[in-house]
Amino acid sequence: MTANMGATGPVTKDVLQRLRSVTGPAGIIEDPADVAPYCKSWRDDWQGKVPAVLRPQSTEEVARIVRICAEAGIGIIPQGGNTGLTGAGQPITDTAEIILSTSRMKKIRAIDTVNDTITVEAGVVLKEIQDAADRADRLFPLSLGAEGSCQIGGNISTNAGGVQVLRYGNTRNLVLGLEVVLPDGRIWDGLRSLRKDNTGYDMKQLFIGGEGTLGVITAAVLRLFPKPTARETAWVALDSPEAGVALLGHMRRQMGDAVSALELICRAIIDFLLTGVPGHEDPMRTPYPWYVLMDVTSQGPAGSLHGPFSEALAGAQEAGLIRDALICASGAQAAKLWKIRESLAEAQLSAGGSIAHDVSVPVSRIPEFLKRADAMLEKAYPGIRHCAFGHVGDGNMHYNPVRPKDWDWPRFSAERANVNRIVHDIVVELGGSISAEHGIGRSRLAELEHYKDPIELDMMRALKRTLDPKGIMNPGKVIRV
Ligand SMILES: Cc1cc2nc3c(=O)[nH]c(=O)nc-3n(C[C@H](O)[C@H](O)[C@H](O)COP(=O)(O)OP(=O)(O)OC[C@H]3O[C@@H](n4cnc5c(N)ncnc54)[C@H](O)[C@@H]3O)c2cc1C
Repeated sequence: MTANMGATGPVTKDVLQRLRSVTGPAGIIEDPADVAPYCKSWRDDWQGKVPAVLRPQSTEEVARIVRICAEAGIGIIPQGGNTGLTGAGQPITDTAEIILSTSRMKKIRAIDTVNDTITVEAGVVLKEIQDAADRADRLFPLSLGAEGSCQIGGNISTNAGGVQVLRYGNTRNLVLGLEVVLPDGRIWDGLRSLRKDNTGYDMKQLFIGGEGTLGVITAAVLRLFPKPTARETAWVALDSPEAGVALLGHMRRQMGDAVSALELICRAIIDFLLTGVPGHEDPMRTPYPWYVLMDVTSQGPAGSLHGPFSEALAGAQEAGLIRDALICASGAQAAKLWKIRESLAEAQLSAGGSIAHDVSVPVSRIPEFLKRADAMLEKAYPGIRHCAFGHVGDGNMHYNPVRPKDWDWPRFSAERANVNRIVHDIVVELGGSISAEHGIGRSRLAELEHYKDPIELDMMRALKRTLDPKGIMNPGKVIRV
């Protein structure tokens, strides 16, 4: 097995000249100082070097770049907003690679409000799609903390989740069609906008969550939904994750699919937020061990959910599930609370010294997972600080223990593999996944090989070899052949 099958290069002056002639000078970055930010990750310090970043403006330009790279054995790292959290968008130093950024492919090609679809190019920023849908009186429900900078090509390639999966599903559920440049430079036009299409294998699914290892997504047809007209938001205080899971069940029994988001948040990360990220205040005067941030939405008249929502929360309080609840009095107050949720990744970063996990287990087993992982880590690393938050309705927790206070970061960081093994062994024992929504990239490559069914790994390798026989698409990420 080699990490970088086909990226043998080198990226010669002649190759660079040919690439330059495709995009023109405005579409290539070669000054090392300008290239550097594309080579560095937002978190975890993944970095490497490439001689150039290509910024094509059209699908045809992407195809020409891919053909040149395929001929010359140059690896291609597709990149959107570079907000990924697994090192999948960064180069591996000493390999022959270029970065292909979709940041100039920004057209919204069409909105069809009868079919409820929007067709967009890969470089459109997620927030711009949400806004375009909103202007058309529709909802595009994908929503996550990086939505102001991540691009839809990156969202699709990571099968991003976010805070509304509970009601609308993850990105896979939101994509109807794709346009993809294959590793040999052919353009596959799969931009269908059908909800039913049983004509053989569903090829788009391979590229959704493929992390750029099978081709470059250049455009997509996405599903739109009716825009909710009634919405209520609450910040709820709890004693334990058990109460959080019970509250989820209670609210769904009371309000059904109106429950569109339900996030579980531990106190520790709120403390990191309040000390490390300016502009936030504690939503409640008294601190509690755990919180839930929750949205209910419907198509009814504005305000129509207030009564049922208050009653459901009162019922939860009577049943002893919650300690306190703050129901937002205005959209501005709700936005402030959601800003807290969106800033938690930044809060974690500002705390310094945590080892991140993005895991899922069956919802019913979340409390058991947290209890066992906390206990095992405390035994191995006395004084370790527990920190967890996430999309409890999807069984997905960001479990990010922080170094003991008297340890420095290099000492704790050296334990990363062991901490990962402790956490992931428990996850797998509980029937869970070592990567719920962030993907594999480079950071989970070895663990994927350790935990994944060998038959599944064989199928993944067979697909990679078939679609990318030269191994030029994002080499060394997701699957080693
Ligand atoms: C503050 C913050 C909060 C976040 N919250 C969430 C969350 O709640 N849920 C969640 O799922 N993720 C979350 N993330 C992770 C990240 O935002 C998502 O993974 C996002 O979908 C990545 O989009 P991007 O455009 O930045 O992709 P990039 O980081 O540029 O790329 C990610 C991967 O996709 C590939 N790729 C990019 N564009 C293409 C393309 N056009 N064709 C083929 N491959 C491509 C890259 O090669 C790489 O493998 C968060 C990140 C941050 C920084």
